[in-house]
Amino acid sequence: MVDEEVQCWCGSGLLFQECHFGREEMKPVLPKQAERASIESFKTTEICFHPFADELKCDDIIRAHTVSRGQTLKALADSTNHVYQLGLDLSFSPSRDLEQKDLFSPGGMKDLVGIKKIGTKKASIIRGFCGRHDSVFNPIESGDLVINSENAFLFWFRSVVFELYQKIGLVDSGSYQRSNLDKGQTFADQVLIQASLGWIDTGAKHGLRRYRDLWKRSCFLYRKPNYEEISYLVFKYEGVLGYSVTCNLSPEYDCNNGFLQKLANVKNMFQVLSLTVLSDKRNIFVVFTWQSKSKRIYKFLRSLLNSSVDIPSAVTELTFLYSENHYFCKSWWDGLGEEKQNLLKRRHSSLIYTGKPIEPFSLEQFTDWKEVGVFSSEEDFLRILKQG
Ligand SMILES: [Zn+2]
Ligand SMILES: [Zn+2]
Repeated sequence: MVDEEVQCWCGSGLLFQECHFGREEMKPVLPKQAERASIESFKTTEICFHPFADELKCDDIIRAHTVSRGQTLKALADSTNHVYQLGLDLSFSPSRDLEQKDLFSPGGMKDLVGIKKIGTKKASIIRGFCGRHDSVFNPIESGDLVINSENAFLFWFRSVVFELYQKIGLVDSGSYQRSNLDKGQTFADQVLIQASLGWIDTGAKHGLRRYRDLWKRSCFLYRKPNYEEISYLVFKYEGVLGYSVTCNLSPEYDCNNGFLQKLANVKNMFQVLSLTVLSDKRNIFVVFTWQSKSKRIYKFLRSLLNSSVDIPSAVTELTFLYSENHYFCKSWWDGLGEEKQNLLKRRHSSLIYTGKPIEPFSLEQFTDWKEVGVFSSEEDFLRILKQG
């Protein structure tokens, strides 16, 4: 017997009648369906995130690249205009019989990591800018890259918008998952599935709030304009690009396993480091940007600069650990050899933000880039690098 006025146990806020009632008898959702639904929810967000955006001034929303297509993706593409990335293959069949303990042990999902091929037109796309306002990024996308505070701000702004866009999609797909993924399961399994989805959802909403705040602050700075609040550290190299990325990381530990911040604490205003790897026509650049007041990010960068690792190789490991928005050139990947490929696959499958230190950097070389310059808004960092 069902009391028609009872709220559902799952916390959706709906009445039990309209929510979980009879769910064990429903037809289960196939992994492929779930994946498609999640992709769809990412497509529905179309908004211009430019600081001066408003309906009167905006053109149609376009597919905006978060990694420059003209210079960077083109440099990585094969003869058919494709680039490559690592991704978790979620359509794996249960017959592979992977046990949970394998999945959640470090590197346990390595075997589910596959290489995806993606056309340069589709790579790194968000529907987050209109045709008119996407041009705000021209100074960091065409010609020789000039390192100054204004351009550093643009790198920061683009990665913040990218994360914000991703979080909106994640929260949207979360509501689909909570009302569909446990169809046809026993009550006990419904409880387990809802608990883990709830955990993911809480994290996504926390991230969404944080990135919305960062975006608002960035818009304020752009309008002033005042770029002093954004710090930068840029390495300039000669060599062959190999891969690129635009992402943000919120490290919980520094490179010596020193504690920085705990992401699971939703009251915490976690601090963010933006990372972009790109090329102009001549050089390769690794660009770090962050809010000048983010003390934990300084600590993270200082630990990276003071460690004995090869910086571009450490950056490669960070890229594959933290970001899905990475793209690589097939010949670079093939040239790494199986051992290094497995190391990066293992990085990519590792669970981050677990409240535990990440595995230390390996001493492998992933690139042969030769440093030709370092630029920073912070004297301190330049001093450390000179001493090293
Ligand atoms: Zn429910
Ligand atoms: Zn616009």
